[in-house]
Amino acid sequence: MKVVRAEVLGFCFGVRRAVEEAKKALCENTSTVYSLGPLIHNESVLEKLGKSGLKIINEENIEQIKNESIVIIRAHGVEPSVINQLKNKNCKIIDATCPRVKANQKMVQKYSSNNNHVILTGDMNHGEVKGIAGYAGENFHLIQNPEEAKRLELKDYAEKEIILLSQTTFSGTEFEEIETILKKKYPSLTVKNTICPATNERQQALIDLCKNVNGILVIGGKSSANTKRLFQIARDNCKNAALIQNKDDIPSIFYTLETVGLTAGASTPDDIIEEVENTLLLSYNKKL
Ligand code: SF4
Repeated sequence: MKVVRAEVLGFCFGVRRAVEEAKKALCENTSTVYSLGPLIHNESVLEKLGKSGLKIINEENIEQIKNESIVIIRAHGVEPSVINQLKNKNCKIIDATCPRVKANQKMVQKYSSNNNHVILTGDMNHGEVKGIAGYAGENFHLIQNPEEAKRLELKDYAEKEIILLSQTTFSGTEFEEIETILKKKYPSLTVKNTICPATNERQQALIDLCKNVNGILVIGGKSSANTKRLFQIARDNCKNAALIQNKDDIPSIFYTLETVGLTAGASTPDDIIEEVENTLLLSYNKKL
């Protein structure tokens, strides 16, 4: 059996940085370290960090955080009002907001300060969108799909600047569709495509990998949206595809295939990928 990894897989830069910050904080402090919401979408990583003392607390329950606690801000960031609440409690804030997300927050803040129209493509329930919206002024418009773009009516748009940007993990195709619709309505629109290449790179590498293998294992957490999207692509492009959380989930058919391809979501750590790879190779070697 041959096991081939996708050219790009696993942790993205922002998630790796957030996990490393959390580990460092847990090593350096004996008191509880809080994460506002799950630090990453991977159950086994959260379980390990939880055993080392990381406590997840939802933003709605921020009042439960004791004064002077240590709090990690996730890669997707939070709204400024949350930061202020933590500052009022004299908490030590470890800001693991991904620089790409931070750039979006700053851009929204800058354009909003002159009362310009800021249009963001994204999912209203996503933490990153809620965080960015907190930096916006009154002329902020969230567009979740092309239909909403068609319905958008901007007042006084001739006198103001209009900027279009995106949640970092939004679909590239949908963003382009929305951009086309809005450009027809508002030719002066300034477009900033702020979609992070990390998602696209993983998806493209998977499509390439599907051409050369008999089956694909997508490794990742069940609540990770980018992992689920990878699985969808694997199913569309390969006869055998499975979404697994770790080595224990490998379906038996994969032990019989000649070449198995591996990919992993942006929240899947290196050690889980290695375990899956080693389990496949070990079982094959035992059969020889
Ligand atoms: Fe940052 Fe991109 Fe990872 Fe989001 S997907 S955390 S923007 S590197």
